[in-house]
Amino acid sequence: PENLPLDWTLYGVPFDGGVTFRPGARFGPRAIRDASQYVKPYHLEHAVNVCEVLSLADAGDAPVRPYDIRETLDAVTDFALPLGEPARTRLLAVGGDHSIAYANLRATWQRRGSPRGGLALLHFDSHLDTVDAVWGERWGHASPFIRAIEDGLVDPRAMLSVGIKGPLNTGADLDFARTAGVTLLPYEAWREGGAARIADFVARLAGREAYLSFDIDVVDPAFAPGTGTPSVGGLTSAEALAALRACRGATVVGADVVEVLPDRDPSGITALLAAHVIFEILALDAVSRRG
Ligand code: MN
Ligand code: MN
Repeated sequence: PENLPLDWTLYGVPFDGGVTFRPGARFGPRAIRDASQYVKPYHLEHAVNVCEVLSLADAGDAPVRPYDIRETLDAVTDFALPLGEPARTRLLAVGGDHSIAYANLRATWQRRGSPRGGLALLHFDSHLDTVDAVWGERWGHASPFIRAIEDGLVDPRAMLSVGIKGPLNTGADLDFARTAGVTLLPYEAWREGGAARIADFVARLAGREAYLSFDIDVVDPAFAPGTGTPSVGGLTSAEALAALRACRGATVVGADVVEVLPDRDPSGITALLAAHVIFEILALDAVSRRG
């Protein structure tokens, strides 16, 4: 791939050592690749052929260290940093649990020239993922964005979390996001004109470079059962696509799609949805470039 003018490189991260509940997301990349075979290139709503506008490659899977989150994040970052042409090629990581987002964010931030103040973040999830520590672990799948904010990779005032729902451990779980200035669009708020709210947020970014992180558990487990920490209710598959299409105009410079657990996905619908989510993310960039 280093000889091609690559716009995006996808890579898998078969790691689920960051979870607190049901493991198995390490098998997500393989299932999503299989499901992607029936994703076609022309995007109907954006009226763009993604494969005519973008050159794409799959770099295979990053190395992981199944017994150690920190070593895995370092190994994934080292793998991702030189892929393609670092100043041009954008990275899409396929998880794996959400802890791996930190590594792809760190690599993306560095490849974009380490912008001071950090990247904007469009985050889709049932969960806040800004919990400081769980059972003493600071790098698990509940914490990638508090670490990214602390390390200057993400600007919390340019971070939108869409689809938050379900019970929290404590109301104090919300404190970090509120204090840091993260914009929350919980699922109940999404139901009242959510697509327009996302579009407003994106418009206020005014072209600022953004990372997009999509945790499949933002979708109702009635539509996406194959995930390790399911939270009932939430976006339908159609609403998830609409939420992503509402990001049109965002400058997406990196992304991940995480938390697909194939062993809980008997008909493959969760992996299929994840493959379509990847297509939607790439289509956002394709439609921006075509103008
Ligand atoms: Mn998450
Ligand atoms: Mn989640």
